[in-house]
Amino acid sequence: MTAAAPIPVTVIGGFLGAGKTTFLNRLLAAGTARYAVLVNDFGEINVDATLIERHDGTTLSLSNGCVCCSIGSGFLETLGGLLDGDARFERIVIEASGIGDPWRIAEIALVEPALRLDGVIVIADVRRIAQLIDDRRVGDTVRNQFAKCDVVLLSKSDLVTAAELDAARQAVLSVRPDVRIETLLRETMPDLSLLAGSRTSSRFRADGVADDALDHEENFRRWAYRRDGTFDRGRLAAAIKKLPQELLRLKGTCRIRGEAAPQIFQMVAGNWSLSPAGRDTSAGAGSIALMGVGTHDLPPDAELEAILDGALALDDALAHPALI
Ligand SMILES: [Zn+2]
Repeated sequence: MTAAAPIPVTVIGGFLGAGKTTFLNRLLAAGTARYAVLVNDFGEINVDATLIERHDGTTLSLSNGCVCCSIGSGFLETLGGLLDGDARFERIVIEASGIGDPWRIAEIALVEPALRLDGVIVIADVRRIAQLIDDRRVGDTVRNQFAKCDVVLLSKSDLVTAAELDAARQAVLSVRPDVRIETLLRETMPDLSLLAGSRTSSRFRADGVADDALDHEENFRRWAYRRDGTFDRGRLAAAIKKLPQELLRLKGTCRIRGEAAPQIFQMVAGNWSLSPAGRDTSAGAGSIALMGVGTHDLPPDAELEAILDGALALDDALAHPALI
């Protein structure tokens, strides 16, 4: 690696469940460059890093809490190791945590001479963003993510009507009247040149961490659920209905009785899905490992665990043998 050419850095932000990892996988699949991917998950299990499909570069996980709140610790070490190491890549893309402020991560690229900030992208779920912006508990965090981004990508735009799409657009514009907004469709990738190089070359745009910066470690709480066992699909559906609304996000890998493949579990705002873990992910090693993020008033772990324990298959021993 030559010292002469700074490496372009793109930061991807967006609230819990917006579709950051899906977008990142599509970006990597497009294969336009060899990427080093850094993924920050707020939870102690870095689920998103395991969901990044194999690509012609390198993936590193940042699991020491919210990176934007603790830039000094693991993040700089990981970044330094990457820049000094043998991994070959042309660009760096950093996925901020769902509660993180992507700009605070991007500022590193502004002050580090080996890096050049290419752009800050915020992904917003077209169906939820208007509601999230106004949400009493998380609205501040959501609005703050838009504050200095270059592009907003409205994900899942093909799932709504033109009127709903416009409402989402207006909601984003109410926070950032000047921001560029693009729609993200399932089948087509936006023109990547729109996403990159939108920054001016000035290296003096860093303005420090604002005094009113949110403390994500204080405002949100993480919760991990691990079990050697399998869920029963019906019992799981019933258990999820009992989870408190303070639990904003739950995701990870699990096993479902009767399913041969490990499953990827995703839940956002009470909507949940299971999908077989693809061969290209490293997911599925354990039996059940889920990572949750909630507001600070999330009920105690034991209470949440009791709910999900109610979803375990009763005849676990019978469910397990040699399915793999
Ligand atoms: Zn943070």
